Amino acid sequence: MRFAALGAVALLAGCAGLGESPARAAEPTTQGPEFACESELLAIDTAFPGGALSSCTIDDDGNVDIVIAPEDEPPINCSAWYAFRITPRGVSETQVKLSYTACGHRYWPKTSTDLATWDYVPAGDVEVDEFSGLDFARVDLQLGDEPVFVAGQEILPQETYDAWMLGKAQAGQAQRFVLGNSAEGRAIGGLAIGNTGARELVVLVGRQHPPEVTGALAMFPFMETLMADTDLARAFRERFLVVAVPILNPDGVARGHWRHNTGGVDLNRDWGPFTQPETQLMQGLLNAIAANEAQDLVLMLDFHSTSHDVFYTIPDELPTEPELFTARWLERYGELMPGYEVNRDSNHTSGSSVSKAYVYDTFGAPGVTFELGDETDRELIGRIGVQGAVAMMETLLADEAQ
Ligand SMILES: [Zn+2]
Repeated sequence: MRFAALGAVALLAGCAGLGESPARAAEPTTQGPEFACESELLAIDTAFPGGALSSCTIDDDGNVDIVIAPEDEPPINCSAWYAFRITPRGVSETQVKLSYTACGHRYWPKTSTDLATWDYVPAGDVEVDEFSGLDFARVDLQLGDEPVFVAGQEILPQETYDAWMLGKAQAGQAQRFVLGNSAEGRAIGGLAIGNTGARELVVLVGRQHPPEVTGALAMFPFMETLMADTDLARAFRERFLVVAVPILNPDGVARGHWRHNTGGVDLNRDWGPFTQPETQLMQGLLNAIAANEAQDLVLMLDFHSTSHDVFYTIPDELPTEPELFTARWLERYGELMPGYEVNRDSNHTSGSSVSKAYVYDTFGAPGVTFELGDETDRELIGRIGVQGAVAMMETLLADEAQ
C-alpha cells in the first residue's frame, strides 16, 4: 500500500515541499552522512531528523543486523522507534534484522525514498519472532538505485510542521506564534486559529511522545477542518480561539526518542510539576489564560498514539464546563462515522500529572487524550481528524456563548 504522509487532505499544497523547508535548506549540504555501518554492498546512516538506531553490522552477503535501544535506561514506555537510511551500492535486496535491547518490536516497518510518500513493507516480507521475551523482526527489502528510508512510522520532523504552519499563516488562515524554546533550543509554538479576542479558548497539543505519529496524522486534518472555508468553521472561528501546539517535544522527535525529552522525562507525566522547559511553556500558556478574566479554557485535546483508536476522557459523573461536552461530542462524532466503533475509556485521578487531568483539576474543563492506533488505516485517520473536528465545532457551538 502506498500513501502520502500527510496525503489525506493534501496538507502540503501551497507551501514549501518537504525537502525545501527553510530549516532544512539551512543545513550544510557539502558533507555526506556519517555512516553507522557500511560495506562494499551498502551503507546505513541516521543523519536526518528522527533517525535513530543503536548499532549495526553488515555481513558478507549484505544483510544487516541493527540493534535498537531506548534513549534512557528501562523502565521506559515500549515505543521502540527506529529510523535509518540504506544506501545501496549495487545490491538489489537485503535482509535487515531489527533487534531490541528492551521491549521488542512494535512498529510495522515502512519505507520511503522521498520522506513524503511511504509504503508498508509487504506482510510476507516481515517476520516477527513472537516466542522470546525480546522479540525481533526480520525485514526483507528490495533495493533500487536510490537510498531508501526505513522507519517505524512516517517520519514527521519539526521541519514538516514548520513548513505547514508557515503556509497556513501566509495564506491568512491562522497566526503563527512561538511560546519559547525546547531544551536544545528548538522553537516551540504553533497556530492561533479563530478569533484572537474570543472569550472561549480550545487548546490542542501534539507530539509529547515522539514516535506517536498517527496522532499527528489526525491532528493535521483536525486543524485543517477548523481553518476550512465552510459555514460551520467560519461560525466557529468567529466565536472561539484555538491555540494549537502540534509538536511539544521537538528534541525527542529530532533524536528519534521512544518517549522522553532530552531531560529524560515523559512530558505527559510532567503537567503539574512542570520541571521541563517544554512543559513549562504549556504552563505559561495555561497560566496566562487563567489570569485573563476575559478568557475561559473550554477544552483541551492532546493527540497521541497507542495500539488502537481510543479517547481517554474525564468520566461523565464529574462536572465539566461546558457541561457533558465529552459525551455529546463523541455521540455526534459516532453519528458522523457510520460503521466505525468509537472507543471511550474514562477515568480521572486528581493530581496525576497527565495533561487531561491537569486541565480538569485546574480549569474544570474537559481534557481528552485523543489516541490513534499505530497502524490504523491512514485514510481512516484522515476521516477521524476531519469528523472529530466537525463534531467538536458543532458541539461547542450548540451551547450558548459564555
Ligand atoms: Zn502518548
